[in-house]
Amino acid sequence: MPYYQRVRFDILTIFPEFFASPLAHGVLKRAIASNLVEVLTHDLRAFTHDRHRTVDDRPFGGGEGMVLKPGPIYDCFQTLDIAPKPARNTAKETVILLSAQGRSFTQTISHDLAACDRVVLLCGRYEGIDERINTLLCDRELSIGDYVLSGGELAAAVVLDAVVRLLPGVLGNPDSSRNESFSPEASQSSINTAALTKDGVPDSTHLSGGLLDYPHYTRPAEFLGLEVPEVLQNGDHLAIRKWRRQQALAKTWRNRPDLLARAALTREDRDFLATLDNLEKQNTTHNPSS
Ligand code: SAH
Repeated sequence: MPYYQRVRFDILTIFPEFFASPLAHGVLKRAIASNLVEVLTHDLRAFTHDRHRTVDDRPFGGGEGMVLKPGPIYDCFQTLDIAPKPARNTAKETVILLSAQGRSFTQTISHDLAACDRVVLLCGRYEGIDERINTLLCDRELSIGDYVLSGGELAAAVVLDAVVRLLPGVLGNPDSSRNESFSPEASQSSINTAALTKDGVPDSTHLSGGLLDYPHYTRPAEFLGLEVPEVLQNGDHLAIRKWRRQQALAKTWRNRPDLLARAALTREDRDFLATLDNLEKQNTTHNPSS
């Protein structure tokens, strides 16, 4: 374990029980049990003062739906001992609003959050929260994708999961999180330097270099007539790394060509991608309709 670090997450929500299941399984459960992360959920209804414990109200200006009132969120926030916005060191303490209008949540942001001591996740419901809470308390607004959920809880669970598995000591093998799809570390530097052997093949068996991960196989070697690729079974590690690199390139080329522009590519990678482009061109010339 390179250094000891413990992150505390505070989740503000009208459905705290929602998190019982995500926190009780797999990596998150183990990380909490090993004290590598602390996750506290806060019930916004506990900060209401009326008999009906009202957390929402009609929108000013009219229109559909309801809006989460600012009062309970603000009062709940005051109990968290987070610095007020102008004085806050956001590299260490950060307050995030989950929102369909936010910036896209990415693996790079996951790494930033994994370096924080405190992360506050605010979950909206209905049409969203009163915007003054965003202005007064939040450092950033994050969206987990271009679709609309009915609440921020699923999004908060996604962010929590993605960050916790990056914390030192959480995954048994640190390479598991370093070298997978989207890994910024791999894309930025290592592919061009130490990670390459003298034959120009990535040194790690699964260094993503900003690409999508390569396909994985386990036993049995044959399943319903489909064989595990020969190269993975013959123990030639250089050939395996090379095959995996090409598979990662091919998958990225097919599913997420936008990532290729930012990936760290060797000359060999570019040659391989050129052959994929050429093959496709040939196919479309022969079958103009496809
Ligand atoms: N009226 C809003 C949608 C509100 S959905 C709009 O059109 O943008 C209710 C809540 O779900 C939001 O306040 C937010 O907390 C959460 N939410 C919905 N989609 C999300 C997404 N893609 N990413 C993160 N949170 C989302």
